[in-house]
Amino acid sequence: MTILSYFVIGLLTLTLSSEPLSKPFPKSTSNEKEQNNKPKQKAPLRALIVDGQNNHAVWPKSTLMMKQYLEETGLFQVDIYRTRFTWGEGENEKSYLVLAGVGETTNTVNPQHDPEFIPKFADYDVVISNFGWKAANWPETTQKALENYMSAGGGFVSVHAANNSFPDWLEYNKMIGLGGWGDRTEKNGPYVYYTNEGKLVRDLSPGKSGAHGPSHEFPITLRAKDHPITKGMPEVWMTTTDECYAQLRGPAENLTILATGKDVSGKAPTDRHEPMLMVVDYGKGRIFHTALGHDAVSIESVGFITSFLRGVEWAATGKVTIPIPPDFPTAGNSTSREFELRK
Ligand SMILES: [Zn+2]
Repeated sequence: MTILSYFVIGLLTLTLSSEPLSKPFPKSTSNEKEQNNKPKQKAPLRALIVDGQNNHAVWPKSTLMMKQYLEETGLFQVDIYRTRFTWGEGENEKSYLVLAGVGETTNTVNPQHDPEFIPKFADYDVVISNFGWKAANWPETTQKALENYMSAGGGFVSVHAANNSFPDWLEYNKMIGLGGWGDRTEKNGPYVYYTNEGKLVRDLSPGKSGAHGPSHEFPITLRAKDHPITKGMPEVWMTTTDECYAQLRGPAENLTILATGKDVSGKAPTDRHEPMLMVVDYGKGRIFHTALGHDAVSIESVGFITSFLRGVEWAATGKVTIPIPPDFPTAGNSTSREFELRK
């Protein structure tokens, strides 16, 4: 050991031993003292992505994309919890399955109920669903656990086809506010949309729920400019190639539409501005709902990434610190970042 080392250790000891002086009358236990001596680093937010059954072939990859985006902010530590029986993963995306570190799973021809799907929601600041259309029902105890977790102030994020899941689970539909497909009709609640003139409509007329034209780049229009998630975004910005979900319907209680999408493909199912980014209050809990994110190209959109990250942070904490990046899309141009899996 050099003299310099002794000097550094001496300095460190001085620094550590002087700490209690700045806090008069410390009555801490030895454990607390140890914690006080650790570098002051904010604990990361804990996020859980749940997945396993989704009609979108990309799901094993998109789960890892979202995990990596979240971890790259330095704010989140992300776990994945998956059904033992998986469904819908594409041949090209199967190699991503093992990278989630969730152990072995079994692909099934149809979505299969997993009685052992019991995530510990309460251990997390926010839960993100990457389930999709036709996902088998979760065990009743797990449904109840999510309801209790959310009522007590949890955070939940619904991504794209997660709003297709569980049409018969009323509390889930209250959480997402609006859903599509799964034989949803007027019995599930109103259509909610904006007209071309900018009027918000709740429409109880009968009819099916869920439609979209071909994937294309379409404009997103902000409807709530002062919400922490959207604050600072341009009033209109372009998606990358994505699906513009339409005719969503649901309980729509305590729902705020942050932004809408307008299908400009020439084959739009409606002539409306459809809800794309939403927030819902559920008990003391907060939900962020993005209808965007159909495939890898959609998810590489800087608009998707930014709204997703800010939405997850908001659902977890009620605040947003993640900035709008300089490469955020504009009204004229979409922007994207090619995804590279971190080794
Ligand atoms: Zn889709």
